[in-house]
Amino acid sequence: MSLPDLAARSRAVVWHPCTQMQDHEWLPLVPVAKAEGVWLETPDGQRILDAVSSWWTNIFGHRHPVIVDHLKRQLDTLDHVLLAGFTHEPVVSLSEKLVAMTPEGLSRCFYADNGSAAVEVALKMSFHYWRNIGRPEKQRFVTLSNSYHGETLGALAVGDTGMYRDTYAPLMLTPITVPSPDCSLMQPHGRQPGEGWEDYSRRRFSDTLAVLEARAAEICAVIVEPLVQCAGGMRMYHPIYLELLRKACSRLDIHLIVDEIATGFGRTGQMFACEWANIAPDFMCLSKGLTGGTLPLAVTLTTETVYDAFYDDYRSGKAFLHSHSYTGNPLACATALGTLAVFESCDWLSINRGLGQLMWTQTARLRQHPHVAEVRQQGMILAVEMAKAPSRREPFPAEERRGLRAYQYALEQGVLLRPLGNTLYLMPPFVISPREIERLCEVLIAAVDVACAP
Ligand SMILES: *Cc1c(COP(=O)(O)O)cnc(C)c1O
Repeated sequence: MSLPDLAARSRAVVWHPCTQMQDHEWLPLVPVAKAEGVWLETPDGQRILDAVSSWWTNIFGHRHPVIVDHLKRQLDTLDHVLLAGFTHEPVVSLSEKLVAMTPEGLSRCFYADNGSAAVEVALKMSFHYWRNIGRPEKQRFVTLSNSYHGETLGALAVGDTGMYRDTYAPLMLTPITVPSPDCSLMQPHGRQPGEGWEDYSRRRFSDTLAVLEARAAEICAVIVEPLVQCAGGMRMYHPIYLELLRKACSRLDIHLIVDEIATGFGRTGQMFACEWANIAPDFMCLSKGLTGGTLPLAVTLTTETVYDAFYDDYRSGKAFLHSHSYTGNPLACATALGTLAVFESCDWLSINRGLGQLMWTQTARLRQHPHVAEVRQQGMILAVEMAKAPSRREPFPAEERRGLRAYQYALEQGVLLRPLGNTLYLMPPFVISPREIERLCEVLIAAVDVACAP
């Protein structure tokens, strides 16, 4: 199948995600025929460096042999079976490993097949927990401004990414939104020049604390993306916020839900971002990197305390009646076990420290750029925020679509960037080589120039 054919056929029958389809009248769809390591390949043999890990999922490169091997072997024995009333080796082994590797106290795994669903599970469990223990008045969720937790109605409701949410607002539960501790200098009324990240994150926490103290009786949980608000433009904050939040939640009888869907599995430089603050949440949502970007799978981990509040005689009506058809799919679980096997095979966190350092040094030039407000980094995420006038915190107007210019330019250079508005970022697979990082940073710098040109 030649290249234009596939794109045209796709436009005829596929409704692509998160896309104004009319753009594809002039913006070519990119067909991909194969992928290996950090490289995608089009049917006519053009190679594209996947700098965004295929939407942040692909931590060990495409078709990693260990992961592929786990999947193939599983396919020879058990493809799928329902998880209600039945169980199987991959789901049990995976749960044992996840319980062992996640923060202390998380002891129960509930499976879903995408990140949004894992968030829904955490929301429903928290709400239901308070009902089950006789505190049904605790019904409200607290969320940070600029946060993102997925697209299904419950997950979308506790997010705060304007255009994704606003249209559907009439359909949704209303959370209590507190200001994000996001330390970007482009945040209006945000961190002052000279004010450190820690000081600013503490200052923001005092606002959050006031809300929690005043309304604890009606709040079931606070949900956060730890350290990095990824979809919200790779906005970052200091771990002190999580530490203080954990203490306040424990004191005020409020659950802490940590959405590690994007940050989990080594992305921020620790296995899980909440380890930077040394905290254990009441719920942890994982997906994306869990299968190394091979198959859809998600899990919500929680504590024995939560689990026990549902554990009772059937007639008590306390059971968690939630399921998805593919809950705990054996192929996906085996693939996740393959991913964990790759993690165990060497010290990826230390490899990532080296790669992260290289991304930082290779982007030095951007820190002097007149239209770069900030270059920020957390582990294997490096973000460049472009602005019309950084000193006045004046962004480029969204309708100028400067990020799109960067996307188009980078693609011509054989690099897949997928900017978030005016923020360009690198979030490559951990198997990227130093040479490939150099190439990536070269293209990134040139893409910033192209995007910021008049
Ligand atoms: C991607 C993402 C989700 C949603 O996961 P899906 O699998 O896309 O539904 C939720 N939370 C965070 C932090 C994410 O990055």
